[in-house]
Amino acid sequence: KDKNIHKSKIKIFNRKMEKKITEKFKIQNFIMNAMKDGEIVLYYQPIFNIRNGQIEGVEALIRWHNNKLGKVSPEKLIAIAEETGLIHELGQYILEQACKDIVNWKNKGLHIVPVAINISVKQLENTKFSEIVKKTITKYRIEEKYIEFEITESVSAGDIHTIQKNIKDMKNTGIKICMDDFGKGYSSLSMLLNLHVDKLKIDKEFIQHIGKERDEKVIMTVTQMANALDLKVVAEGIETKEQVEFLKEIDCQWGQGYLWAKPMMKSDFEKKLIRL
Ligand code: C2E
Ligand code: MG
Ligand code: MG
Ligand code: MG
Repeated sequence: KDKNIHKSKIKIFNRKMEKKITEKFKIQNFIMNAMKDGEIVLYYQPIFNIRNGQIEGVEALIRWHNNKLGKVSPEKLIAIAEETGLIHELGQYILEQACKDIVNWKNKGLHIVPVAINISVKQLENTKFSEIVKKTITKYRIEEKYIEFEITESVSAGDIHTIQKNIKDMKNTGIKICMDDFGKGYSSLSMLLNLHVDKLKIDKEFIQHIGKERDEKVIMTVTQMANALDLKVVAEGIETKEQVEFLKEIDCQWGQGYLWAKPMMKSDFEKKLIRL
């Protein structure tokens, strides 16, 4: 009798597993098709030098519009890709799209700027990541200085050994690493130092609270620290002139936000690049 119960439990378990696997497979397929059909595209948001107003960089941000689902937010798409294990394919797709756009701008005789690409901790946990990146960039014959990766503080929860090695390998080739959303997560400071990042982006939460003494002090302290450590600082989420004035005063050199430009289609961004 016991044996039978055991058997039926296994059956139920298997059926549930099967259903889960089928579902996962369906979602994976769906997203793969979205990539193939060009539904998933990169938008570009310029990064400005606050002192002189020039565009000195750009961030690539993923956008997905599907006929059935409508707009799917980047956060949701990335979360699903991470859960289903598709993040590696999606990440590679994003990198290749960015490379293709850079090549296209170069061929048009435009003065290109470094492109910052967001990556997931899961990608950095792939022991082959830095190698794949190097191969890809070489394939498109892009100079390393035109590629930057934005990582988040969630790297502190990952396989730190592999993450560190990937970052070190990429830095050695000349790719820059930026700590995104700085101040939002945990263990910011030790991560910043241990990973030897080149740049930090102050989280938009702080920028949007400029005017409040506490947040201004945080921004000022982080900027001073970054300057002392020879790290570049970018303020994200700038929406008002008052915010710019404050950032100028405390000598925060780079900024990004709706005040100057929203993330836009590549064809619109291209128009903002200077002709050589
Ligand atoms: P993030 O990397 O911190 O990107 C900044 C987010 O702030 C973007 O949201 C951008 O559109 C938004 N933003 C820019 N300026 C302003 C502003 O002035 N005000 C406000 N309120 N928001 C502003 P988005 O595009 O929805 O992306 C959300 C997050 O999704 C990103 O945060 C990033 O973590 C992730 N993400 C986006 N694209 C990718 C990607 O290609 N790969 C990966 N792994 N993650 C991505
Ligand atoms: Mg980012
Ligand atoms: Mg950010
Ligand atoms: Mg963010």
